[in-house]
Formats: sequence, C-alpha cells, structure tokens
Amino acid sequence: MAGDKGIYTKRDDGRKFDEIREMSAEVGIVDSADGSASFNTGHTKAIAVVRGPRTLHPQHMQNPRKGILRVSYGMMPFSVTDRIRPGPNRRSEEISKVTEWALNSVVDLSEYPNTVVDVFIQIPQADAGTRVAGINAAAIALAHAGIPMKEMVSAIGVGKIDKTLVVDLDKYEDSDFHDAEGSTDIPVAITSRTKNISLLQLDGKISVPEFKECVKNAKVACEEILKVQMQALKNIDGGNN
Ligand code: UDP
Repeated sequence: MAGDKGIYTKRDDGRKFDEIREMSAEVGIVDSADGSASFNTGHTKAIAVVRGPRTLHPQHMQNPRKGILRVSYGMMPFSVTDRIRPGPNRRSEEISKVTEWALNSVVDLSEYPNTVVDVFIQIPQADAGTRVAGINAAAIALAHAGIPMKEMVSAIGVGKIDKTLVVDLDKYEDSDFHDAEGSTDIPVAITSRTKNISLLQLDGKISVPEFKECVKNAKVACEEILKVQMQALKNIDGGNN
C-alpha cells in the first residue's frame, strides 16, 4: 500500500518490511533421482532434482580436470495466472545460467573429471522470488545427492518499493506500478561459511547507501533461510534415507 509522498507504508500480507514469507523445505521428494528437494516461500514453490555425476556427452564438452554443473530452470505453464508457454525462453536461460554460477562457487567436482551433474529446477507456483527459491532448493538437493560442497548457499530477493527497503518481495511488490520511484528487485545468494556473494542482480534504481543496506538485509535473511535448509537436511538423516 503506497501512502503520501510515495512512501510504501504497509505490506498487503501484514509482514514487517524485513520479514520473509513463511518458508518450508523438504529433502528427498523424488525417489528416482540422485538428489531432490523443495523450497517454498509464501505462494512461491520451487522443486530441484539432481542427476549425476555421469559421463558427459558429447565428449568434446568434457573437462578432464573436473566435472561440470549444468542447471535448467523452468516455470510450469500453470505457475502464474497468465499461462506460461512451455519450453526455454530468454528469461529461463538467463536464470539457469545465473543459478549455475551461484551454485558453482560452492560445489567441488574436482573428483569427477569428464562428468556432468544436472540440476533441474521447476517452479509449479510463482509469486516472485522463484530464482532464489530455486537456488535454495538446488543447494540442498545437491547435498542430498552427495555432491561434495565446500559450503551451503542461501538466496533471497531484497529491494526497495518507492522509498522503503524490503525483504522477500512478492509479485505485487515486484510489479512496477508503485507511485514514486517504482520497485527495485535485487536477488542475492550468500555462501554459508565464507559469506561470499555468489549471485547479485539488480533490476531498478537505488542509491549506494540503500544498496548497502539491502545487502545487509540479505545477509540477515540468508541466515534464516540457511536454518530452514539445514533442518530439511537433518530431517532426512533422521529418517535414515
Ligand atoms: N512472472 C510471470 N510471467 C512470466 C515471468 C514471471 O507472471 O513470464 C511473474 C512470476 O510470478 C515471477 C515474477 O513475475 O515469480 C517475478 O519474475 P522475475 O523475472 O523477477 O523473477 P523471480 O523474481 O521469479 O526470480
């Protein structure tokens, strides 16, 4: 809700400006895969399935020093109210690539030369923040698959609506209708131990001090997300899977 002078005064779902939507995660949701997980935040749902490592074909794409990670992100046709056309498009190719880079900084495939690890991310329900939910699901699906990882990675969308800084924008907040300054969306992924930023994109306008504040907000939010991811991994250990 936008108040006077373009100040975003209240979130429609009653959340505080730095509050993440309700989160849940589950590991081991697809028996036939090497690793799998779901990560949900509010109405956004992401599923990640891992297959590999297995020998990469065609042979000329193989790396004799280490395995490669290959990510494919897609939104299901019914994931939003306007039907999404099935198959790859510019947006899904961009998100697949940036997700690959975000995950590449934590996986260690040096023990698996000439192989590929495939990560398939599907979005059955999209209410903004799907690329970050996909990264959160994929990170725990990779751990579930037993892929060596130097650390975990967690991701969140932060940003600014009119003059107000917010965490975890939903679709309404992500839309560009807001009164004064519009909406700025900054997906950020942060590694769990070294606290490195492995993804940062920026769509919109923001000042340097506000940007720094957003990154701080992302770091705090990622600590919360990490707890949910680790709990999901612990749950499966408890179940002896
Ligand atoms: N969206 C949509 N149709 C599309 C692409 C996106 O309705 O073809 C919606 C969907 O809810 C998505 C949101 O717009 O989550 C924000 O999309 P964006 O490209 O910013 O990526 P995301 O925030 O999902 O990572």
